[in-house]
Amino acid sequence: MRKKIVAGNWKMNLDYTAGLSLFSEVLNMVNDEVRGDQEVIVCPPSLFVYSLAQLAKQNSRVSVGAQNGHQADSGAYTGEISASQIKSAGAEYVILGHSERRQYFAETNQLLAEKTNAALKNDLKPIFCIGETLDERNQNIHFQLIKTQLEEGVFHLSAEEFAKIVLAYEPVWAIGTGVTASPEQAQEIHAFIRSEIAAKYGAEVAQNTTILYGGSCNPKNAAELFSQADIDGGLIGGASLKSRDFTDIIKAFNK
Ligand code: PEP
Repeated sequence: MRKKIVAGNWKMNLDYTAGLSLFSEVLNMVNDEVRGDQEVIVCPPSLFVYSLAQLAKQNSRVSVGAQNGHQADSGAYTGEISASQIKSAGAEYVILGHSERRQYFAETNQLLAEKTNAALKNDLKPIFCIGETLDERNQNIHFQLIKTQLEEGVFHLSAEEFAKIVLAYEPVWAIGTGVTASPEQAQEIHAFIRSEIAAKYGAEVAQNTTILYGGSCNPKNAAELFSQADIDGGLIGGASLKSRDFTDIIKAFNK
């Protein structure tokens, strides 16, 4: 059975003290909420990864992830962080291909394929984000766009490698806007993604792939989104900055 995951993406928010305090609250609050096939991941700014990973050692169902990683092993890339450095600081996951990285840092599918390789080589599990803009949806090219993001970003992997990644469908028009995809809209795309995986890697790999929904997910809409057949949890931005909201989203699995 595939894992159910709620992952928080703190983006470039909070200072160090506030980050530690939020994470401690989350650890305390989620303790009794996370069941056997469920996992909680928190992706703070990279500076906090080591400290959070130390705290997370007391809770086997909560892991830490980074929000980005460089494609090279090491070298003269001022300001960048490699996958091996992220791993050595205690992270288990790394978000790759978030739409903000694609938009503001010009990250292409080709670059993201390299970053995915670097992550897997260093035993870091990518949370690989895909999704269309409103313009692309209005032009009705969103299915093709998502197919291309998969083909160019992750379908070069072997089935064994692909089994280690988590996918996140994040329609760009729903991120940070307060506009959520309806459960039906999200389910339609998730089912499409799973069918593309089945066509490439076979039904078993497709059934075992965790596909998260991201985009203005909150305690009010999480239960309905998570009850869809192909939605296996969420990648949460704004609502992951409040321990109560984040915990309530996790509780949505068990409603
Ligand atoms: C995100 O940035 O991955 C995200 C889903 O943000 P928000 O929940 O704030 O829309």
